[in-house]
Amino acid sequence: MRTNLLDLDADALAAFFATLGEKPFRARQVLRWVHQRREDDFARMSDLAKDLRAKLAAAACVQAPRVVGDSTSADGTRKWLLKVDGANAVDAVFIPEPQRGTLCVSSQAGCVLDCAFCSTGKQGFNRNLSTAEIIGQLWLANRLLGGERPVTNVVLMGMGEPLLNLDNVIPALRLMLDDNAYGLSRRRVTVSTSGVIPGMDRLRDECPVALAVSLHAPDDALRDRLVPVNRKYPIAELLKACRRYLEKAPRDFITFEYVMLEGVNDGDAEARALARLAQRVSCKFNLIPFNPFPASGFQRSSPERIRRFAGILQQKGAIVTTRKTRGDAIDAACGQLAGQVADRTRRTRTLPIAEAQA
Ligand code: SAH
Ligand code: SF4
Repeated sequence: MRTNLLDLDADALAAFFATLGEKPFRARQVLRWVHQRREDDFARMSDLAKDLRAKLAAAACVQAPRVVGDSTSADGTRKWLLKVDGANAVDAVFIPEPQRGTLCVSSQAGCVLDCAFCSTGKQGFNRNLSTAEIIGQLWLANRLLGGERPVTNVVLMGMGEPLLNLDNVIPALRLMLDDNAYGLSRRRVTVSTSGVIPGMDRLRDECPVALAVSLHAPDDALRDRLVPVNRKYPIAELLKACRRYLEKAPRDFITFEYVMLEGVNDGDAEARALARLAQRVSCKFNLIPFNPFPASGFQRSSPERIRRFAGILQQKGAIVTTRKTRGDAIDAACGQLAGQVADRTRRTRTLPIAEAQA
């Protein structure tokens, strides 16, 4: 079987070139062709010797997931539905803003962690994405968007828990950071986790990038219910892991994500408790209005409630942003990146698009 070059970070590509009897600088050249010039045809890599091009064509390929859906909402948010195998599809979402273009990338098909408010979690876990399937989302987005450097920021906030797939996520992150590939700074690449502590420590040691932690509740009783992995890694331990992470993080704060669920976690008391937590770790809050999906059992907090919640946090000295909801019309809002994965668990039958993918 031919080696998919999208699976290889710079070191792995150099090792692969060594097996072909080729020098490391040739590997760097090919890395630039593949990731910077988005070329998938070795025949067109014009500054490589003909025999190397032939060797590569026989031994390797450049294969990203297949685009099976492409929709753009009125605010410019663009979502691709990507088929990764016969049974699984994931989404990648591009969010254009005046000063930057952010790509939201998936790391798994489905998710095992089953957060109460998440449609990905409701579908159960299907499988880890490979490095090629993860970096392939960025490769494809740049190719399809065109222009110089359309994607300036990457967030691993699509489907799946990235810290449960670090073997494949870390090489993809290294490619995002590599000057011969995407050359993004560590501050412009954000991994979001529901709080998988061993993964946080490993990421810190192997490839520290900006970190977002999905907190969603100020105390263990509520967080146990909303984010079940909290039963294994409770808040006190999580905050300690955040402090350890900050020793090596490219930014001097952790972003705490907090989904606003009406009448569940959005009261004044929760805001005050959250502000107290914030004093224990250097952090910023990102309030995310809940994106409803059928049979979720939750409602989005009202804009007034979200403003009041943010106000209490700010009064106590916390830095707070509220996420704009974007791409609602194409189900591209974060946390909506699901419904396409074959529903093996049959826990729920949610988004109708699941049928369309079958
Ligand atoms: N598994 C990782 C990253 C993917 S989820 C994590 O949980 O952090 C990315 C973000 O979307 C998380 O903060 C998650 O809690 C949030 N999210 C999930 N479902 C949502 C929904 N229906 N509405 C709003 N945010 C949601
Ligand atoms: Fe998994 Fe994140 Fe969804 Fe929780 S919120 S089920 S960790 S994808």
